[in-house]
Amino acid sequence: MRAIIAGGTGFIGRALIAELQKNNWEIIVLSRTPSRVAEVFGSGVIGMVWNGGGDWSSLLGPQTVVVNLAGENISGRWTTAKKQRILESRLKAGEKIVQAVKSSEQPPAALIQASAVGFYGPHQSTPLNEEHPGGTGFLADVARQWEDSTKSLEKLGVRRCIIRTGMVLGHGGALKQMLPPFRMFMGGPVGHGHQGVSWIHLLDEVRAIRFLMENESEAGAYNLTAPNPTDFNKFAKILGEVLNRPSWLRTPPFVLRALFGSMADELLLTGQFALPEALQRAGFEFRFPDLKSALSDLLAR
Ligand code: NDP
Repeated sequence: MRAIIAGGTGFIGRALIAELQKNNWEIIVLSRTPSRVAEVFGSGVIGMVWNGGGDWSSLLGPQTVVVNLAGENISGRWTTAKKQRILESRLKAGEKIVQAVKSSEQPPAALIQASAVGFYGPHQSTPLNEEHPGGTGFLADVARQWEDSTKSLEKLGVRRCIIRTGMVLGHGGALKQMLPPFRMFMGGPVGHGHQGVSWIHLLDEVRAIRFLMENESEAGAYNLTAPNPTDFNKFAKILGEVLNRPSWLRTPPFVLRALFGSMADELLLTGQFALPEALQRAGFEFRFPDLKSALSDLLAR
């Protein structure tokens, strides 16, 4: 089988490609700078340009699964221009995939469409499964439009799985940004600490994506989150224990708002307790269902 991965050069994409290569998938990465694909992956992965008119529609067909991970990274200060890039990069990626499928002779077998648990908007303590409706706020709006950007492919018979991903824990991403204060004995929760943290180990993230790519009976929305979401107070406590560092130095909301603008309120000071009900119903088994085992695995290396 062939995987065509948009945004495959990123944090999740690289791990996904390693997982797929172990399982004999042929990989093509759609990138804004295909020369980086060769730099990152060597000759085993083909890189194709897809902005500015690169035509990759002839690569599609029934033995192909497209994975859409592309989009401007959401970390950093959310200026008006940054928010626009966050939204538009995702809508353009969806649009380009739809155009390619429509102009192909044969559609792909499936599309894995990235999204995020931010789809549900901020929620205090209610556990959220995939049936829960979309919420309000910038991230929820982006996620809804992002999910909808490829919805028309379902009418063409493409099996579509939407992956509403939580905070992915690996050697990179959010965890990399959290570690320095903890290592310097200055770590702790942010804000009141009761906000939900729906997390997933990077290995389970890419195993779940492969599971959905390979299971022909699966379609619809899936929370890609471990079955034991926690709150920020417990997250900081467990991270401190695993690193053998204190975890009581709380970052007040005004500091986060000064640093990150409205991103602080939407991503750091509020959260969700999402549950992977659809994945578990489908028979997926997590290697790292609890936070301590996930962090110990990542930080003991
Ligand atoms: P990364 O930011 O690491 O990678 C995303 C890829 O998208 C990049 O490698 C890049 O590929 C491409 N890209 C970046 N900016 C733009 C842009 N402005 N326009 C078009 N393409 C762009 O993301 P992750 O791997 O961490 O995540 C993959 C997807 O999953 C993202 O859309 C993210 O929002 C979502 N997600 C991630 C979570 C996480 O914890 N990591 C949590 C929830 C959702 P290239 O330069 O080769 O074109």
